[in-house]
Amino acid sequence: MVNYLKQYLKNTARTPQSEPLPKQVANSAGGYSFAVDDWTRLDRFLVLGSEGGSYYAKERKLTAENAAAVKACIAVDGPRVVARIAAVSLAGRAPKNDPALLALALCFALGDEATKRAAAEALPQVCRIGTHLLHFAEYVNGLRGWGRGLRRAVGTWYTGKPARDVAFQAVKYANRDGWTHRDLLRLAHPQPPTEEHQVVFNYIAKGWPGVGDEPHPLEAARVIWATERAKATTDKTTLIALLREYKLQREMLPTPALADPAVWEALLPNLGLTALIRNLGNLSKIGLLATDRPDIIDSVIVQITSQEGLRKARIHPIAVLTALMTYKNGHGVKGKGVWQPVPKVVDALDAAFYKAFGNVEPANKRLLLALDVSGSMTMGSIAGIQGLTPRVGSAAMALVTAATEPNYTLLGFSHELVEVPITPRMRLDQAVAAIDNIPMGGTDCALPMLWAAKHRAQVDTFVVYTDSETWAGAVHPVQALRDYREQSGIPARLLVVGMVANAFSIADPNDAGMLDVVGFDTATPQLISDFARE
Ligand code: CA
Repeated sequence: MVNYLKQYLKNTARTPQSEPLPKQVANSAGGYSFAVDDWTRLDRFLVLGSEGGSYYAKERKLTAENAAAVKACIAVDGPRVVARIAAVSLAGRAPKNDPALLALALCFALGDEATKRAAAEALPQVCRIGTHLLHFAEYVNGLRGWGRGLRRAVGTWYTGKPARDVAFQAVKYANRDGWTHRDLLRLAHPQPPTEEHQVVFNYIAKGWPGVGDEPHPLEAARVIWATERAKATTDKTTLIALLREYKLQREMLPTPALADPAVWEALLPNLGLTALIRNLGNLSKIGLLATDRPDIIDSVIVQITSQEGLRKARIHPIAVLTALMTYKNGHGVKGKGVWQPVPKVVDALDAAFYKAFGNVEPANKRLLLALDVSGSMTMGSIAGIQGLTPRVGSAAMALVTAATEPNYTLLGFSHELVEVPITPRMRLDQAVAAIDNIPMGGTDCALPMLWAAKHRAQVDTFVVYTDSETWAGAVHPVQALRDYREQSGIPARLLVVGMVANAFSIADPNDAGMLDVVGFDTATPQLISDFARE
């Protein structure tokens, strides 16, 4: 009988969020949450990064905490960490590659032999372009991680690809963080596998002062020759002919040349989607992306709304969102330059944001999308992108699911419920502005479930976008969910979309009906749908 009583009491318990449930830990807000395991923490770090810190932790502290979680994972299973890093990086699931680069450097610095071997294999997949490799070198240096295996792996980066690709990377990404390819070749000194590699390595080591009029006899070295010629020439026709023929990139051109609309027009066909999306403002400023050039407008729109193109170039939705917010403002972030935004291009970016998540299949379930709009969600920035607070980010994420699912309710909460006047039919920047206007408040993550119980709403899956720093409620979110399940007879599930790379979740790790996913992982909308459908 005593057991029954105990169970009855346990099942009806209402614990204020200022007191812990079993297995809970103190969060940063004075309340209690569940701790996510180190693997979830690794995923959060790889996708969200720690730049800009959070409401509760400065950037440095947040990075150190995340590095500790990465270390703990390496100690348990290093090769699994490497596989995770490579998977997130290769599929372009994170807005920035930097956390992956840092985590890979940690694998070299702290891993056992098997981990280092796996990391060496993954290096060219994670460091896909020259600038990744140089940035990785800076992380390795900071960790004092230059072992023999790593030097060999870096050498393979140069010997494992065709000489013309090495040449292209070397002239496009000449330096970063004080590192050059010359520094890396010196450290790694790989044996050139072909005559072409020999020539390209020589150029990286010594440069080519005073190149002649004739293209280099080796095809692999011609991009170097053309870049040097472009730097040397003062004749615009010559410059444009060079960049057309050798597909030179803007990084390879002397800066003054980039003030010329004709140069940009010649660059356009080879610009690549990443650079195109980043340079929409420049293109408008210079008069190319303007109403009197419908040909260019159309071509740009076709490119940025191509789902296949977005996937191939690993364009992250965050990059599209950032471009949209900057472009429609008509001026650069640092006040550099003004332009007249073309409305059709802004609309195209809006469409591109949704397309960048790929094809998400609807779960066709009843979803309650609940946005944490409390004060802590307005600080820090996702992946270090200015203006992209967790609150703005969660609104954008919710719109992706709202655009996919036929049956959803969207609401916001802090210490009270608030109306969130956004729909997928609004343009993203308008949705972001609407979210920014909601007043801040304390945090009670139980409110979505309490609301559903009170209004007898039929909900199969609660999707809560939050940092899980809950404290202001009279009952814990998991208790509110349990009560809702009992009252409604629906075995409702809870998905927590983590919007900050911290250690907390409102989801009970021991309840199979609850799951943590990472905000702004491009895989998340599909994960939400899959979990809701099960
Ligand atoms: Ca909060």
